[in-house]
Amino acid sequence: MTTATANYDLALTGGTLLDPGQGIHARRDIAFRDGRVAAVAERIDPAEAATVMDVSGKLITPGLIDLHGHFYHGGTGSAVHADQNCLSAGATTGVDAGSSGFLNLGAMRDYVFPAHRTRLLAFLHIGAVGLAANRVLGGGLQDLRIIDVDQTADAIKNNAGFLFGVKVRMELNAVAHWNAAEAMRQARAAADQSGSRLMVHVSGTPLPLPQVLDFMGPGDICTHAFNGNPESILDRQDQIRPEVRAAAERGVIMDLGHAGVHCDVEVVKAALAQGLPPDTISTDIHIGPPGRKVYLMNDLVSKFHALGMSLPDAVAASTSRPAQVLGLEDTLGSLAPGMAADAAVFDLREGRFVWHDMARHNVEGKVRLDTFLTVRNGSVVWREGRLTEMGPC
Ligand SMILES: [Zn+2]
Repeated sequence: MTTATANYDLALTGGTLLDPGQGIHARRDIAFRDGRVAAVAERIDPAEAATVMDVSGKLITPGLIDLHGHFYHGGTGSAVHADQNCLSAGATTGVDAGSSGFLNLGAMRDYVFPAHRTRLLAFLHIGAVGLAANRVLGGGLQDLRIIDVDQTADAIKNNAGFLFGVKVRMELNAVAHWNAAEAMRQARAAADQSGSRLMVHVSGTPLPLPQVLDFMGPGDICTHAFNGNPESILDRQDQIRPEVRAAAERGVIMDLGHAGVHCDVEVVKAALAQGLPPDTISTDIHIGPPGRKVYLMNDLVSKFHALGMSLPDAVAASTSRPAQVLGLEDTLGSLAPGMAADAAVFDLREGRFVWHDMARHNVEGKVRLDTFLTVRNGSVVWREGRLTEMGPC
């Protein structure tokens, strides 16, 4: 609530702002008004704000952007509740990676997503029902009659600002190997026809990875890029394959899509050593089989910091970089004045932390980002372990 005399709805004071998008890593106060960043300064008078949160000693970042998650909660068996899994991790934007196709898009757009406070965007699956039939049909591209390029492209064109591209899963269980190249071709056609971009799941691909990358151009997203399955980004000598290097150089985005099964620490270490860090850090958060470990955004930033990325680089890969990938860098991913009032505040906990992957590699680190509060659209939506206000679903 803004009082008659207050200039700002909310001010965060005393914290350290880490905002790679505007090149700031310094002590800053920040104030919000009407859903936008209104001021960033070394000192903002608390009397000017209706609500003031003292975040002295804590780290403020732009709200994190999770470029690959599954948020069609109730619409598919594997989708999670976004508010619990994003806001608790300092993520204010979640991008659903193909939970729906053009046939079951409406309920996600009109009922499920609006019932959340997290900003939710999506890629549309090239299969008409997305992941809804996964438990009976595996990945759903065994029979290519499930693909309709024209209707998929039309749905994306008709939902500009909400749908950002086409998702296709190149995975042995998801697509028959004799159909894989044709599925890629049709996904490429739908992306081109809609003027959008392609996000390709490459973990466990039935096609050789160079052949998959041949379909991809600047701005397309190679997700699960650091998986340890056959056809990984490394050759047998653990060197980055030349086709992968060439793809990265022409602007194909190397996205983490961590999940647990889709990120191998040894691949990450080799890639970091050879100058190929993830462009974007994302969770692939989903409800997996028992025992599958899926980390949220704050832990993945911490884990990649422990693996050797600087904290500014790891935060850039989860704020300004995914905003650029979506073409939303003018509104999201930074806390410059005028940008969306989406922010995260973390305690930088010091201690001994261990992160795992499914290949039984452990990563040990000394710092963990522990979410203190999350601001979405100018309001505190999550604070110290709890949602401040649940959506109605
Ligand atoms: Zn996924």
